[in-house]
Amino acid sequence: MDADAMIAVFMREQERGVELADAATNLEELEAARTAVLGRKAPFAEAQKQLGSLGEDERRRVGQVANEARRALQATFDDRRAAFEAQAEDALLASDGVDLSLPGRRPRPGSLHPLTLVEHEVVDTFVRLGFRVVEGPEIEDDWHNFQALNIPPDHPARTMKDSLYVAIPGHPELLLRTETSAAQIRTMQAQQPPIYIVSPGRVYRRETSDATHLAVFHQVECLVVDDGITFADLKGTLEVMARSLFGANRRVRLGPAYFPFVEPGAEVGVSCFRCDGVGCRVCGNGWIELLGAGMVHPQVLENCGYDSERYTGFAFGMGIERVAMLKYGIPDMRMLLEGDVRFLRQFQGVA
Ligand SMILES: [Zn+2]
Repeated sequence: MDADAMIAVFMREQERGVELADAATNLEELEAARTAVLGRKAPFAEAQKQLGSLGEDERRRVGQVANEARRALQATFDDRRAAFEAQAEDALLASDGVDLSLPGRRPRPGSLHPLTLVEHEVVDTFVRLGFRVVEGPEIEDDWHNFQALNIPPDHPARTMKDSLYVAIPGHPELLLRTETSAAQIRTMQAQQPPIYIVSPGRVYRRETSDATHLAVFHQVECLVVDDGITFADLKGTLEVMARSLFGANRRVRLGPAYFPFVEPGAEVGVSCFRCDGVGCRVCGNGWIELLGAGMVHPQVLENCGYDSERYTGFAFGMGIERVAMLKYGIPDMRMLLEGDVRFLRQFQGVA
């Protein structure tokens, strides 16, 4: 092949390359065209290989033509490739429905769960009063969960707290605690009075979930044991808590109730924070039943090695779910577990 023949190949291939690049309708076709024109076995490369057979001057002249043609071809294919890629990106953006002219999305800050908010509020109230926060194990033995609290094995109170037992060989008495009260027993066993503790945590009952019941829920319990603790101390403490949770004007009322671990025991109601005790859809008669309370039963004190002639105390336990439902107007307890972001995001900025 002489010099002119080579130049003819380079020019022809350049022209053919531009035609093929123009004809390509997608990236795959474009790549095939590029290989056909600029590949190692294409006519262009074959002709270029023969440059060596030319004399020095001709080789330089023809080589320059070859280089320019190759550069131009490369640029043609690059431009065409860029156009296809831009097209693909546009198509992707269009199919994603992304509008780049829209302002950016503000990252949404997380928020505490309503149960956590209520637990913090209760615990903070007691910490301000000088109480200590204690937590206990969620798997308990029968003695700490029932017997120490004056609930022997045949006690009818057990049937109201259907328990979930844990199958650990050799430990038939282990169960998921039904109250956080066991943490109070453990605290009393570990130290002498004075005791001023609050004990939040998760408890378990064999319940079918419905709008007002869950098998796993949360309680916060309070225990005071000291010299000369009276029912008035209980009522005063309940008032502080009720006002902290539901507003400064709340009143507290106590009605007689039976719980095995207190004597006397009381159902505690708080005047409605919606209607201030007049009566409304939330409360019915102006009062919201909030929790159970009472003076610690002397037998419970004795069970823990305290002298019940010397010490007295009070205790109460409250459901955190119930308080959250009241405070935030949540109609169904199960909403607290569903993890629905539309529900949870309403608590942003609360706290
Ligand atoms: Zn009301």
